[in-house]
Amino acid sequence: MIVLVVNCGSSSMKYQLIDMSDEHVMVSGVAERITFDHGVITHKLNGEKIVIEKDMATHKDAVDLLMEFLVDPKYHIISSMSDIDAVGHRVLHGGSKYSESVVVDDAVLKAIEECTPLGPLHNPANLMGINACAAALPGVPQVAVFDTAFHQTMPAYASTYPIPYEYVEKHKIRKYGFHGTSHRYVTLKAAEMMGTKEFKLVTCHLGNGASCAAVLNGKCVDTSMGLTPLDGLEMGTRCGTVDPAVVKFLCDKEGLTVDEVDDILNKKSGVLGVSGVSNDFRDVEEAMNNGNERARLAMQIFYYRVRTTIGQYAAAMDGVDAIVFTAGVGENSASARTAICKDLTYLGVKIDEELNSKRGEAMFINTPDSKVKVMVIPTNEELMIALDTVALTKDL
Ligand code: ADP
Repeated sequence: MIVLVVNCGSSSMKYQLIDMSDEHVMVSGVAERITFDHGVITHKLNGEKIVIEKDMATHKDAVDLLMEFLVDPKYHIISSMSDIDAVGHRVLHGGSKYSESVVVDDAVLKAIEECTPLGPLHNPANLMGINACAAALPGVPQVAVFDTAFHQTMPAYASTYPIPYEYVEKHKIRKYGFHGTSHRYVTLKAAEMMGTKEFKLVTCHLGNGASCAAVLNGKCVDTSMGLTPLDGLEMGTRCGTVDPAVVKFLCDKEGLTVDEVDDILNKKSGVLGVSGVSNDFRDVEEAMNNGNERARLAMQIFYYRVRTTIGQYAAAMDGVDAIVFTAGVGENSASARTAICKDLTYLGVKIDEELNSKRGEAMFINTPDSKVKVMVIPTNEELMIALDTVALTKDL
């Protein structure tokens, strides 16, 4: 089967075309500046970049442009659009309704729309992507894979905020969690590596956006993001957990509106806000290594929050058998992994620094006598989406 995986933002569309017979990516790319001037779509084919500059008024234009490219005989990618067997979409918010991926039908479209207040930037874009693909590829089944789905197994005492229950019910305010597709992918990989599904796992997705999940016997029991992806760990530009009173305090002291403070906490905080250097972890690590004290503080906060979240999840599951590091920082920064694991000796975590310095494949980086297995597993959300898409559409 050939599966098109689509991830739409408000003005962008990332895609991968995957041949599921051997799970290889035939071509991938991103359309940017949709609805704006100077639209550009960049394809990656056989290690080469092909850049096409063209304005795209809507996501439908982006999909049409993509289809034109895919069937262009010059590139030998597919011979006709009917070669695409199914489309899998990343959808940000499935609310409490979806704990698994689903084939898109009218009821699913309606449900995604109903979740728009919970994901005001992403859900409308995801819907535009689904509608654009439905128009370009009539009759081809489409699957929605929700970023929130994996976390739906959290017990109510972990997901309910202690606010008046009428608001919980009326506005569906609760912890949902995000990065679910990534946490699920590395959970499945970790189970393969451990040779069992029955264990206590903490998955650490550490990228520009960052979250941890507590996974007991394959099921998520807690996660660090909340109603929105602002909660939990310190991130590139997001503050993570702060006292909610900070919002009113900043409004009062700086004469800001709630919207302005929301913007600050989402876009100007995190390692960027603390260091003043960059939102990119590599730059901040480098500044720290060059003696920049605020960069050091930003990174210390990051390491500390990941470490204490792991400790919190050890309490949630009465222990930890394995820890997984994934995403940009988790996969690539040996020094971040060392710093996070340094004070987890009480759990019995011991890292082998030689293994930790290696890069690439999924691997264990703990010493033989470590009580807790520590793994680095490259995440692959697109493949997870494609696997779900195949599972749900192969018999249609
Ligand atoms: P997202 O998908 O949320 O944009 P990624 O998972 O791609 O994020 O992670 C991006 C982050 O990973 C960037 O801040 C980048 O600096 C960081 N990163 C990538 N490689 C390294 C590295 N070798 N050391 C430290 N940080 C790294």
